[in-house]
Amino acid sequence: MHDVLIAGAGPVGLLLACELGRAGCDVLVLEQEERTNPWKTMPLGMRGVSASSVEVFHRRGMLRQLLIASGVEKYGTADEDQDTAPAPRSVSHFAGMMLDADNIDTGALPYRLPGPVLEGVMTSLEAVETVLAEQAAKLGVHIRRGAEVSDLRQDTESVTVRAGDHEHEGRWLVGCDGGRSTVRGLAGFEFTGTEPQFTGYTMLATVADPEKLQPGFSLTPDGMYLRMPTPGHIGMIDYDGGAYDRAQPPTVQHLQSVLRHVSGTDVTLTDVTLASTFTDRAKQTTTYQRGRVLLAGDAAHIHSPLGAQGLNTGIGDAVNLGWKLAATVHGHAPDDLFGTYTRERHPVGAQILDWTRAQSAVMKPGPHSRALQALIADLLNTRDGTTYVYKRTSGSAQRYDLGSTHPLVGRNAPDFRFADGTHLGDHMQEGQGVAVDFTTDRRLADALAGHEGLIRYVAGSARNEVGCGALLVRPDGVVAWADGLDPDRDQFARAAARWFGSPRA
Ligand SMILES: Cc1cc2nc3c(=O)[nH]c(=O)nc-3n(C[C@H](O)[C@H](O)[C@H](O)COP(=O)(O)OP(=O)(O)OC[C@H]3O[C@@H](n4cnc5c(N)ncnc54)[C@H](O)[C@@H]3O)c2cc1C
Repeated sequence: MHDVLIAGAGPVGLLLACELGRAGCDVLVLEQEERTNPWKTMPLGMRGVSASSVEVFHRRGMLRQLLIASGVEKYGTADEDQDTAPAPRSVSHFAGMMLDADNIDTGALPYRLPGPVLEGVMTSLEAVETVLAEQAAKLGVHIRRGAEVSDLRQDTESVTVRAGDHEHEGRWLVGCDGGRSTVRGLAGFEFTGTEPQFTGYTMLATVADPEKLQPGFSLTPDGMYLRMPTPGHIGMIDYDGGAYDRAQPPTVQHLQSVLRHVSGTDVTLTDVTLASTFTDRAKQTTTYQRGRVLLAGDAAHIHSPLGAQGLNTGIGDAVNLGWKLAATVHGHAPDDLFGTYTRERHPVGAQILDWTRAQSAVMKPGPHSRALQALIADLLNTRDGTTYVYKRTSGSAQRYDLGSTHPLVGRNAPDFRFADGTHLGDHMQEGQGVAVDFTTDRRLADALAGHEGLIRYVAGSARNEVGCGALLVRPDGVVAWADGLDPDRDQFARAAARWFGSPRA
């Protein structure tokens, strides 16, 4: 019997498999496709991943591979001698209205320290999956391709899954099988939310008269279109109530007629190489766990791609779940560690659904939305407005409620740089928690007894200490506990026990 079965070798399933494999679990991934498909390669497979997601790759020693696979030649980060991080450069949009990077208030980003990761990366599903599949193989994860999960049953001890002609047994099953998840349906998860207002299209086409289309996002009285830098790579949104989505394969005539409608031009498409549709249907399961079956990524939450959040949210799910599931498999998880997966990640998913709903509402043709667009455009022209949207889209606004008022607790840990030149992220590659001790008397040095192998001790002074004497960082990079310049050793011990279990004798 495997420790964990994962349905789906998309980015979320593969990242989760790496996290579990690194923690010594026996993992089998079942993937229905034999090989990658054109939807995953550039340009249609293009995906923007935020700085927070890129940091996950840095913390597991995969940053270089990600940049190479994504064709990023220059990833300009901070000059190592700088005390403060340079202003963000890669910025997003809200409802097709671009943010101006110069309008971001860096003073509102105190935990953004100079380090190897400061910006998001434009990558592709193929690149992300290639890097993760290679890593998974090195970690001993088994991936079975051409294995479509079609049935499952669970009892109190295990889950049995049917894939093709084979049955596989695991102590746990995680459905990472995307927006139309089979696991979600078979395990009886409740999936609730809102129905679509639009059909979205993404296509690679030959355009006879491309000069008729503006580059970038164009919000129009009849919807939105997006002309990407790659010739013929076009996105568009048509407020038809989601009627066209997957109703029939989009023909050249249909795509041209929608493009003419939303762009208000007489643009001509002579050929279409690839085209697909999506909607702004926004739904989420009411919980992420039913018995021995869990969900992560699109299997747990679907929404429109507006604001480029789906993959980032799935990456967050996978790193949140991985170490908790591994601790449970190995039998050293403290009480209720597992329950924190749904409690922490469900609200994040719900916020993302609302973020995309807000954009659908703002873009919808009509006088009410036009009024909203003008208002949002005004707000985006302010420093506070731009900074607010940047914080939401970059992931830096995310904070779990872990019951502490310390400003760092519940947040992604700042990437402190120690006197020896290493960054916090360099100490996280084994997937353990990290106790960071900035005190000169190495206050926490002997407080880790019984947590060997689970928590790594890192001591030394670091620049940009943000007034902190010590902190405990979970394997997913979230600060579990932090204290001031005179840190309390007993409090640290209690926090370590809360997240990593009682010290072993
Ligand atoms: C046009 C578009 C643009 C987007 N842009 C962005 C962006 O810029 N940034 C961003 O963060 N997100 C973006 N997204 C969303 C992002 O692509 C998804 O959120 C992300 O791919 C979800 O990853 P996943 O692993 O959960 O699911 P998927 O990527 O859907 O992977 C699921 C895997 O499970 C497999 N599978 C399915 N059913 C079964 C089964 N029964 N048995 C076995 N295997 C199965 C599938 O073959 C697939 O390999 C975009 C989405 C679209 C449509």
